Amino acid sequence: MNILNDTKSINVTLTKQSHINDVDWNNIPFGRVFSDHMLVMDYADGEWKQPEIIPFGDLLLNPATSAIHYGQSVFEGMKATKAENGDVFLFRPEMNAKRFRESCERMCMATIPDDIFVELIRKLVDIDRDWISTKEDYSLYIRPFMFATDDFIGVKPSETYKFVIFTCPVGTYYTEPVSVKIEEFYTRAAAGGAGIAKTAGNYGAALYPAKLGQMNGFHQLVWTDAKEHKYIEESGTMNILFVINGVLVTPSEESDTILRGTTKRAVIEVAKSWGMKVEERQVSVNEVISGIKDGSISEVFGAGTAATIAHIVKVGFRDEILELSPVEKRPFANKVKKYLDDLKAGKIEDINGWCLKV
Ligand SMILES: *Cc1c(COP(=O)(O)O)cnc(C)c1O
Repeated sequence: MNILNDTKSINVTLTKQSHINDVDWNNIPFGRVFSDHMLVMDYADGEWKQPEIIPFGDLLLNPATSAIHYGQSVFEGMKATKAENGDVFLFRPEMNAKRFRESCERMCMATIPDDIFVELIRKLVDIDRDWISTKEDYSLYIRPFMFATDDFIGVKPSETYKFVIFTCPVGTYYTEPVSVKIEEFYTRAAAGGAGIAKTAGNYGAALYPAKLGQMNGFHQLVWTDAKEHKYIEESGTMNILFVINGVLVTPSEESDTILRGTTKRAVIEVAKSWGMKVEERQVSVNEVISGIKDGSISEVFGAGTAATIAHIVKVGFRDEILELSPVEKRPFANKVKKYLDDLKAGKIEDINGWCLKV
């Protein structure tokens, strides 16, 4: 029996007690408020079992659960948005499905066909659609993840997995413009490593260098290449983009060390459609530092699902702190953010077919 051939057969158990009225909608801490339901699906005996939507709650785990010990664990981050008329949209979910599958492959884990992944998300979001606020900058953050569940202490790919999706109502991620430090010692990902996968260990390993940066007053690090620390890679959980002499420039994804962001891809495609020149290439630390100093770099911003567009206003490099133009003076980043926000809120025509209606 393969349940995945028929996602209509998802078992649904609705909560008896919704806690939606407990939420303070004017003050939602990011990622700490959970909506009423979650989806759970187990893999065993070489196949996915029946998916279930159940009230959000704890999972029971054996202490030997292999993901905890050896890190076979991958995740995605997506958002559902709501238009004034109540329509709910997912933004290019097929891209997340593909990246999730590729992350799983990199980590020797079971995979979920892309169309099924999207359909499971749709079903869960539909059930908790009342949790999506139409307020500006609000959305429902979606966290699909999978981890190895073999109760076995031995380093080998697990034979069983659990796939879970839960969701969180969220407002803005950064409440202020971002300051970053260019990191020249620690490394997020090396060529041949797992930097291209959204796998748990990448984030755990980044906490310590990020903490050192935070102690010096920076929100985030900008990672550089592992080999020479000469080239810019990305920042925290965002990709990084620059406007240099009117050209949109961003580190190329040819290496396997940069996470291939869906937000960055959308920004690039929108910029091209507006006739802007885009370069995906190596970006050296030197070029960035001298470009900020001589004014040829007019905008620097991060792009990621959680923050969408995060203006970077301060860049720390060795003993220097370089200030960038104020947020109001960033025509491109502001325009593209508004375009993407309006698109996801159903306010403008979806000419590319990027918004999937739930
Ligand atoms: C998730 C993530 C991004 C952004 O990807 P989006 O698809 O735009 O959300 C960038 N870098 C890292 C390391 C990430 O984990």
